[in-house]
This record gives sequence, structure tokens and C-alpha cells, in this order.
Amino acid sequence: MERIIKVRGLKKVFSMGRERITALDDISFDFYKGRIYCLLGTSGSGKSTLLNMLAGLEKPTGGEIIFKGRHIEKMTEKELADFRRQHIGFVFQNYNLLGDYTAIENVEMPLIFRNARRRLRRQEAKKMLACVGLKDRLYHKPSEMSGGQQQRVSIARAFVTEPEVVFADEPTGNLDTKTTTEMMELITGMARENDQTLIIVTHDLEISDYADVIIHIRDGKIENVEGETYEYES
Ligand code: ADP
Ligand code: MG
Repeated sequence: MERIIKVRGLKKVFSMGRERITALDDISFDFYKGRIYCLLGTSGSGKSTLLNMLAGLEKPTGGEIIFKGRHIEKMTEKELADFRRQHIGFVFQNYNLLGDYTAIENVEMPLIFRNARRRLRRQEAKKMLACVGLKDRLYHKPSEMSGGQQQRVSIARAFVTEPEVVFADEPTGNLDTKTTTEMMELITGMARENDQTLIIVTHDLEISDYADVIIHIRDGKIENVEGETYEYES
């Protein structure tokens, strides 16, 4: 099995005035290609902080994150931005779509950063929007769509570049039960089909049913791992 992300001794401390908050405390773990992981824990346990470090959105205070053989904790902001564009897709709770742009333009965006030609971009974005069931909403703006439809657009945007790893932070946090099931089936179905690694943050036990591996986070530590023996080589 191919290891995609190796995490060792990861630590994150936030300083707020005089107060110091240890959000992550000595996290070590291996993530493999094609598997679906869930970071499960209560609010404030450190899930989003961990996701943000793994995805190169925030810098750790200590420890190592080796993503596809590269130490991302040592990268500059510019290198990180390039790295994310090359290898990572994101789905957020609040969709994070650009409000002034149509569905198809939002989905095209990551392809622009990859210097894809306009015609090809349009074609790929259209195809992805059809995959997520939105072929009739190509020219709608986010404000003209339901929450579920906006999340479908954001899923299309996350997958359009065929990234090796897709990160999702509480992707169904704002959606009703029926839409939640639809979104989870969509995301996990796409990841399985393309053999992508999916890392989902949630506090919802039902969401964790979709994962191969459930990593229980508590007070910034891995409390317990289900679905895989919690052992790793150094
Ligand atoms: P979760 O996603 O599991 O709800 P977070 O990772 O957002 O938890 O937060 C973990 C802890 O770190 C919390 O105590 C939170 O208040 C703190 N924290 C998160 N982000 C920051 C920040 N930017 N500045 C200070 N403290 C933070
Ligand atoms: Mg969070």
C-alpha cells in the first residue's frame, strides 16, 4: 500500500495573549492511498487544526508532515500554495464558493491555476457538474442555489483536478439528513472510483460510517483508531 502522508510528533500551540492553547499534542499517523479516513471528535478537540496542518493551510509548532515524500512543514507559503494546487482538493462546511461567479466558473477555478486552456476547462467543469447532478445549474450563482446544490458545486470543484487527497471539514454540517446522505455517497463514491485518499473531519458518528478508518481525536491527541492497527514504522 502506498503511503501518502506521514505525520510524526505533530504539535500545534496557539498563543492568545498570555494564554497558550495546545490544540495538537504529539500526533503520529500514516495515511494511505485510496482509503477514506474520518477524524472524529467533539467540538474543540483539534480536528480542524489537524486537517489544516495536513493540508498545508497552517504551520505546525513542531513535528513533521511528509506528504508524498516532501516535508510540507518546511515549505514557504508560496511553495505550499503550489503544492495544494497540485495535490489537494477541499470541501468546506460553508462551501467557500465565490459569490460573484457561476457554478461552472467556480469549478473551473482550480484548472485556471493549472494553466489549462479555456475550452478544456469549460469541458471538464461541465463534465464534473453533470457528475454531481447539476447539469441544469451551470450558470447559477451560489445565491441562486440551495445549500445542497452549493455543496455539490464545491465537491465538483474539489475533484475536478483529480487530486490525490481530498480534505473535507464538516462537509455536511449545514445540511439536512437526506442531503447529508446524498453528499456523503457522492464524495465517497468519487474518491473510491478514482482511488483517492479522503480525509473527513466530523463530530457526527453517522458520517464516520462511510470511513475505512476512524481516528478518534480528544484534547489534541489520538485517543483510539478503528479499522486499522495503530502501528507505524518510523
Ligand atoms: P475542532 O475542529 O475539533 O472543533 P479546532 O481544531 O478548531 O477544534 O480547535 C482546537 C482548539 O484550538 C480549540 O481549543 C480552539 O479554541 C483552539 N484554536 C483553534 N484555532 C485557533 C486559533 N486560530 N487561535 C487560537 N486558538 C485556536
Ligand atoms: Mg472544526
